[in-house]
Amino acid sequence: MFRAIKGQDKTIDILSRAVREDKVAQSYLFYGPDGVGKFTTALYFGMAINCVASLEKRPCGVCASCKKFLSFTHPDFIYIFPTPNLEMSLEGEIKSEKYLQEYKAFIAQKAEHPWKQFFFSSNTEIRIGTIRMLQHRINLSPNEGNRKIYIIENADQMNVKTANAFLKTLEEPPNDTVIILTTTRPNALLPTILSRCQKLAFGALPRNIIEEELTAKRSLSVIEAKTYARIANGSLEKALQLSDSGSTIARKEALRFLTMILEKDDFAAIDFATHYKSSKTQSQLIDIIAYLIVWVSDLSNLQNLPDDIVNLDCTDMLESFYQRNPQVNDYGLKLLSFLEKMIKKIEGHVNPQLIVTEIYFRFCAVFVHHKEN
Ligand SMILES: [Zn+2]
Repeated sequence: MFRAIKGQDKTIDILSRAVREDKVAQSYLFYGPDGVGKFTTALYFGMAINCVASLEKRPCGVCASCKKFLSFTHPDFIYIFPTPNLEMSLEGEIKSEKYLQEYKAFIAQKAEHPWKQFFFSSNTEIRIGTIRMLQHRINLSPNEGNRKIYIIENADQMNVKTANAFLKTLEEPPNDTVIILTTTRPNALLPTILSRCQKLAFGALPRNIIEEELTAKRSLSVIEAKTYARIANGSLEKALQLSDSGSTIARKEALRFLTMILEKDDFAAIDFATHYKSSKTQSQLIDIIAYLIVWVSDLSNLQNLPDDIVNLDCTDMLESFYQRNPQVNDYGLKLLSFLEKMIKKIEGHVNPQLIVTEIYFRFCAVFVHHKEN
């Protein structure tokens, strides 16, 4: 099953060899960008360590132990992640009904769709209470597994006090325990934590692997797969989210917006900006801007790398933009970093209506007024 994880061959080789040769370390740190397989790899690694199939088949995914891992119900698999204050007991019991429901929903969703984002209703971090639960349980012997597996996701989200408490566990973990930390920001961890873990890097996924995964897992056209892979920027999680969230609407909206620029239709653009003024449409607006990023890259591809063009069904419109201003090597990179900055501003809660207007006039400056001058 390890081979189901794409694009991380080197890391997978190291881990499957450790299982085969029974040389599993006590603590690991998986680091790298979001959505490239850190959590799934940690889960499969824990499964492999406890799987009952023959060595080279681990994890098999079908034995009772593997199945319990996959459904997050294995008593020796403890999954720790940033949460609100759940007031968890040492046994891991959650007393507040509201948080218990949210917690259960989180786990159910994670087991079914590991790539989906799920949010609690209040601020999250890895809590001292959760680490105390870990310390309590780590000293009990495994219930049915070979070893107890602790996955601590986004381990950088511990405050200093919690991290120091955790460090004590990491210094002397019981022999029957494997602790796997994941993070996108290894440098945010205490150096003393870093130095105690075997560190394995997870890289951004190449675009062709994301395209293949998307076509295999979703019924997408080549254009859609290429588009999502381009926008996702190396993250399979992001690509799957885009394909699940009906991004075709975002693409249509982006094309409508681009038409307004070609026609220099200020009124339509103002209308468009008004439509996206609410925070409810924020994520769709971000997708639209992501499409504009693909569009600008395609203009550059048109000139430099025609095989890499994503919007193969809109080459006429691409050509019109290109004719308006063929100096794409001059403006391309500036326009891309401008759009990326606009996404950051929206995420930072700058008024989205203003952002749309700013983008409109910036594009007009490049593609409309340029021609008039
Ligand atoms: Zn198994």
